Amino acid sequence: MAAFVPAFSHLPRKRVVLLGATGSIGENTLRVIAAHPDKLELVGIAARSNWRKLAAIARQFGVAHIGLHDEAACAEARAQPQAFPPGARLVAGLPGLTELAQLPEADIVLVAVVGTTGLEPALAALAAGKDLALASKEILVLAGKFIMAAAQRHGARLLPVDSEHNAVFQCLEGHPGAGVKRIVLTASGGAFRDWPTERFSQITPADALKHPNWAMGPKITVDSATLANKGLELIEAQWLFGLNPQQCTAVLHPQSIVHCLVEFTDGAMLAQLSPPSMTFPIQHALLYPQRAPGVEVGLDFSKLIGLDFSPVDEGRFPMLRLARETMAAGGVAPAIFNAANELAVEAFLAGRIPFLAIPRVVEQTLASITNFEPADLPAVLALDAEARQVAAGHIKVLN
Ligand code: NDP
Ligand code: MG
Repeated sequence: MAAFVPAFSHLPRKRVVLLGATGSIGENTLRVIAAHPDKLELVGIAARSNWRKLAAIARQFGVAHIGLHDEAACAEARAQPQAFPPGARLVAGLPGLTELAQLPEADIVLVAVVGTTGLEPALAALAAGKDLALASKEILVLAGKFIMAAAQRHGARLLPVDSEHNAVFQCLEGHPGAGVKRIVLTASGGAFRDWPTERFSQITPADALKHPNWAMGPKITVDSATLANKGLELIEAQWLFGLNPQQCTAVLHPQSIVHCLVEFTDGAMLAQLSPPSMTFPIQHALLYPQRAPGVEVGLDFSKLIGLDFSPVDEGRFPMLRLARETMAAGGVAPAIFNAANELAVEAFLAGRIPFLAIPRVVEQTLASITNFEPADLPAVLALDAEARQVAAGHIKVLN
């Protein structure tokens, strides 16, 4: 009898560039790469300023190409060549990150830079025909139309890393084209799921940074507490899967085990389940279309596992309502929402505005700018800069 040959065992290692290597997604990605040295090789890494952590990663994985967005941090790192592997090359600023995204030896670029800084590198990766594994949802909210067009134009593959979108991607496999009635993204409900709304005025940054299920970076943890994260994800889903706003919905699911449900026109629903750890979607995106043993164990049905679902109360979480309204409005409204939210979260974390002011800043910024359909990327970037300026003005008044 012929020996069983596992599918894809012949494939060469995929060479990975990781932007945002020092963050929460970055750390989980490194765990996946370390677990699959026969399948994945890290060839480039970047962060904003934490060069010491980048240097440690470079030594551990033997990485030769290193990027720092912060020019001063890059200069500091260059003065310490002994901290990096022999022959390592350091590149600085956005041009440096963009160069890494096009590294000739790279097969796949994982963008996990918080905020929208990863937009240009992501577009560069697509233009170079690399697979793009995307964690930075903000860049799809800012410029989804242009990112999706670039992926199509260059025949590049866009693999979602955000757990809910990775889940939808998995459920849609084998179901091309029509037939999808709607998708349902699950929301844990964040840090204040069970708090009485009367206490919302007393919320501190420390309270908002305590997520019940997921360990993540500070910005997305606050976004989860306001449910802005789910709003950003509905918009992200719209672009990734070519859906209209009514087809993108959310449901509360406190266990974070079911990551999405896809309902087809015949009423059948498919769901994707795994424990709440980003190593699952990250591994799926990096190895796609291969499967391999996971870094962590899957669900254990020898114990009771409860799965609860309930509607989201948008009265408690106005950021979700605002996000849905911007999605329905289209044009640059989602980009304004994203920019104002980013600044408001930053101000809240710095203790400059209260928690309840976050939706106020976003609503006021949306009301201050006339919506339009952007003709090109420069128009989106100019709008983003304007929205940040307007939001900063509203934040100043609240100080
Ligand atoms: P973290 O705050 O933990 O890490 C952010 C990373 O981005 C760090 O490596 C940081 O570098 C880097 N970075 C920040 N600003 C810049 C910049 N201007 N230029 C270059 N690098 C920069 O964030 P997360 O890992 O939590 O999130 C990253 C992205 O992934 C976000 O867009 C988030 O929405 C998305 N995401 C995260 C999930 C999670 O579980 N954490 C789940 C789904 C999506 P440095 O250390 O030097 O500051
Ligand atoms: Mg998510």
